[in-house]
Amino acid sequence: MKIAMVGSGYVGLVSGACFADFGHDVVCIDKDQSKIDRLRAGVMPIYEPGLEALVESNVKAGRLTFTTDLGEGIAGASAIFIAVGTPSRRGDGHADLSFVHAVAREVGERLANDAVIVTKSTVPVGTGDEVERILAESGTPWRVAVVSNPEFLREGAAIGDFKRPDRIVIGAEDDFGREVMRGVYRPLFLNESPILFTSRRSAEIIKYAANAFLATKITFINEMADLCEKVGGNVQDVARGIGLDGRIGGKFLHAGPGYGGSCFPKDTLALLKTAEDYDSPLRIVEAVAKVNDSRKRAMGRKVIEALGGADKARGKRAALLGLTFKPNTDDMRDSPAIAIAQTLEDAGVSVAAFDPEGMEQARPLLPRVEMKSDPYAAIAGADAVVIVTEWDAFRALDLGRVKALANAPVLVDLRNIYKPEDVRAEGFSYTSVGRA
Ligand code: NAD
Repeated sequence: MKIAMVGSGYVGLVSGACFADFGHDVVCIDKDQSKIDRLRAGVMPIYEPGLEALVESNVKAGRLTFTTDLGEGIAGASAIFIAVGTPSRRGDGHADLSFVHAVAREVGERLANDAVIVTKSTVPVGTGDEVERILAESGTPWRVAVVSNPEFLREGAAIGDFKRPDRIVIGAEDDFGREVMRGVYRPLFLNESPILFTSRRSAEIIKYAANAFLATKITFINEMADLCEKVGGNVQDVARGIGLDGRIGGKFLHAGPGYGGSCFPKDTLALLKTAEDYDSPLRIVEAVAKVNDSRKRAMGRKVIEALGGADKARGKRAALLGLTFKPNTDDMRDSPAIAIAQTLEDAGVSVAAFDPEGMEQARPLLPRVEMKSDPYAAIAGADAVVIVTEWDAFRALDLGRVKALANAPVLVDLRNIYKPEDVRAEGFSYTSVGRA
């Protein structure tokens, strides 16, 4: 089956490479010439574990190609996926659909065969109807069906998630759409991945409901962590104690500096805007977005406390270990590290940082932060060492060396990756999240 993937970012490139690995003939399209040039040269434009080898083997097998020419890329494709960005629209928080609409228009103009147009981007309910309208307006003589197929992969584990998904959701309004999508995912339901056919609108809502629920789970445990700090409890024990209940489940119950990344912050906001438009308030999600937003700066204040409070912190230096919103990605979009660094800088604290993969993306977002080439270079001369992202590389720091290099033995562990007693035994003042 021939598949076209329009948009070759985190989602498009991973999905395209995985579809090719299933045996489909895939063209990844992007309007960013430098991205396509790099891909053609075998250089990955993003960091995602396993991606380079997957792309290389499928390019070699002749199943995966790259182009900036949409007309050429979609020629003969039975399924054309739209996997372009849907960022928050500046000013109001609605999902910016201009990239999705632009692709729909271009596909309408360039289509040269019957095809199913599949929205993989995360889009508000009703977007499929709009894509359908744009295609009709283009006057294309070809038979088209517009399908919603939201993507649930996680950056850092994207290939495994795509190949062994918990479920595949397909929102289709006719048999043509459903049949083509069955063909696209046939290799996966041979693996018995559950495939859920719904209406297009339900599929669009499922994606936002899933992200809002996960964001709620994180925010819930973060507030429990705050309570644990006040009353003398251990949030990790609480998380385990509730998570072993099968109705609750233990995943997404890790207290930390608040959720970030390219999805939860923007998707919760976009969902709230949809709710507002339809006069159907989502008060729980409203609270989640607000609580999470204020948490990031609160984590900066936690570091300032560890530095001796606002008066003493001025003129001191903090070392941030980890900048990306989670490990195993280079994605800096809406990372808590941004607000934490800014809060510190606002308080007169200078910041040095190291991240294994994220520094290139972080530099323009954090122009005053000194980027260092390894964790110990960032730690040298610091008055507090702050673990912001739980990269494996920070799980077994040589605490003796940290103590020798730092200006003061102060460790703020915003991911609870150390045991308080171990760190304190090394003579550190240690602060973590929700462990009184
Ligand atoms: P991204 O920014 O990494 O990639 C989008 C790509 O689309 C870019 O390379 C851009 O150049 C390209 N593009 C934009 N307009 C184009 C056009 N007209 N023609 C061709 N290419 C065009 O974004 P992403 O992280 O891959 O996210 C894509 C969508 O998937 C978003 O809606 C996002 O919410 C959703 N999503 C993302 C994730 C994730 O973990 N990143 C997970 C699930 C869903």
